[in-house]
Amino acid sequence: MELEELRRQIDAVDDDMVRLLVSRIEIVERIRALKEGMGIPLEDLSREADVVNRLSAGLPDSMKPCVARLYAALFEISKMNHQSQSNTQDTMAKYVCDLCGYEYDPATGDPDNGVAPGTAFENIPADWVCPLCGAGKEDFSPVK
Ligand code: FE
Repeated sequence: MELEELRRQIDAVDDDMVRLLVSRIEIVERIRALKEGMGIPLEDLSREADVVNRLSAGLPDSMKPCVARLYAALFEISKMNHQSQSNTQDTMAKYVCDLCGYEYDPATGDPDNGVAPGTAFENIPADWVCPLCGAGKEDFSPVK
């Protein structure tokens, strides 16, 4: 039936959209961590406007307001996500490597090794190792 087939297509598009949304939010968090490190302001309204203009450029006029509204929502979602992450980060424990003393801080993560800022130690992949000495997760202890 055509309706069911179309719904399957929508489901596939939705799966892609959510996967891309998660990926976008992770990249935004990395940019945020970099900006914090460099001491530059987190919010950049002209960059947000550039993004919307670039994406709208080739679209029919009827689609432009859709892109503008979608991205207004996305920018809002990213900010919301950051605030809730900042709140949970306050309660996420730091872990120290028993072998070399390297300290894992969930607020900064380990982006060089694929661990996004805001990742609790418990959620780091099991094959992650200490960036300084190569010790496994089992050699880490919570910082009291
Ligand atoms: Fe270590």
